Amino acid sequence: MESEIKIKDKTFKKYIRQNEISGIIDSLAQRINSDYTDMQSVVFIVMLNGAFMFAADLLKRIKGLPTISFVKFSSYNSTDQSGKIKQLIGLNEDLTDKHVIIVEDIVDTGLTMKHFLQQMNGFKYKTLDICTLMFKPGKFQEHFPIKYIGKEISDEFIIGYGFDLDGSGRNLADIYQLKEN
Ligand code: 5GP
Repeated sequence: MESEIKIKDKTFKKYIRQNEISGIIDSLAQRINSDYTDMQSVVFIVMLNGAFMFAADLLKRIKGLPTISFVKFSSYNSTDQSGKIKQLIGLNEDLTDKHVIIVEDIVDTGLTMKHFLQQMNGFKYKTLDICTLMFKPGKFQEHFPIKYIGKEISDEFIIGYGFDLDGSGRNLADIYQLKEN
């Protein structure tokens, strides 16, 4: 595997190798498996697109039979005139009395998650927790708690393992970080 990758005019250097990612996901899955004895009462809500690879690897390690559902929002960079984040795929699950775990690729400013959490207020779930593979504490502007954090990283832009640059780079097995030129 190359240690540098070029996409358009940007260079990315290898940052987190697949072995490390796998270890991070093992720990997250272990924690979730020990926190929930009745997995049938758990609903995982996966935030597309970025979390698809993380969710696939995480959920294979989850014991029991949880429900798995997907939602998709447009990036906050492409907000509409009203400044709202657009929902592209919605939630159809009945979450009444369920333990909800939101699966996200990265919490950066926290704006996208805050928007989704507001929407979740309308459901009668029992508990709600967030599981994110990556967290950028230096960029976080919100106050909601994040129970399961895979790894805290610095502010730089990353690609690979589901993370993209304009749709490119999601298939890479390792995570790469934008290199300053
Ligand atoms: P937030 O709303 O927390 O600022 O950002 C959430 C979304 O922005 C993430 O789900 C992800 O899609 C995108 N994002 C944030 N940081 C990065 C990054 O470093 N790389 C990539 N590819 N996407 C990011």
